[in-house]
Amino acid sequence: MKLKRYLWIVVCLIVLAVSVLPAYSQQRLQPYPGFQVSTLGALNIGVYEGASTLAKLKGHGDFGLGTFEGLDGEMVVLNGKFYQIKSDGVAYPVADDIRTPFSVVTFFRREKSLRLTGQMTYKELQQQINERLSTPNLPYAIRLEGTFPYLKVRSVPKQTPPYRPLSEVVSQQQSVFELRNVRGTLVGFQLPQFLKDVNVAGYHFHFITSDRKAGGHLLDGKFLNPVADVETLRDWQMMLPNNIAFEKASLE
Ligand SMILES: [Zn+2]
Repeated sequence: MKLKRYLWIVVCLIVLAVSVLPAYSQQRLQPYPGFQVSTLGALNIGVYEGASTLAKLKGHGDFGLGTFEGLDGEMVVLNGKFYQIKSDGVAYPVADDIRTPFSVVTFFRREKSLRLTGQMTYKELQQQINERLSTPNLPYAIRLEGTFPYLKVRSVPKQTPPYRPLSEVVSQQQSVFELRNVRGTLVGFQLPQFLKDVNVAGYHFHFITSDRKAGGHLLDGKFLNPVADVETLRDWQMMLPNNIAFEKASLE
């Protein structure tokens, strides 16, 4: 009688394992999507109203970039932590209830490391990575960690309504910082041309120093034997703003 009961338990466990484990492992192997809040077109014309809280964004990624309500600096998301690099070039921790008008995140899981050799400009870095990517038709999350000979980064100051277009703010008010022999991480994406209406096509990186005290949106740089960690994103998701500013904007 006792043996029968044990057998029954064993059978139950086997059935459970066979039915649950494959689903679990499939879920684990499923690639993470890239996820963006709003569109670059909306940001370009000055829709700086927050569309998602960081708390909500955290559910979609632990790695990425963007900006904050009112275009209040550059966002870096790294290892699940959010940083706000204000126009003084300093990286600040951010509260979960802060909102973002535009951001791009994913759960970063390194698929491969591209080891590039020699000294190169930012443009050459892009070309070298491009040559090693399997196709230009998929989005990639890219992380470069190390010491960089030279990085030129920028940030922008918080705006007040009525908001001006991004190009005006950048040309008149951006602060530019030159960092030499700086240790840290470049967090970014390389997106295919067909996403150009909704996001930055090509490369877009934000930088944060290894002590997490400074950074910004990457404008230019020099690289020595850089290593690019890459993840292919085979799904792209968007969250469109639920606010009047977005609805009234001339996005045509
Ligand atoms: Zn940027």
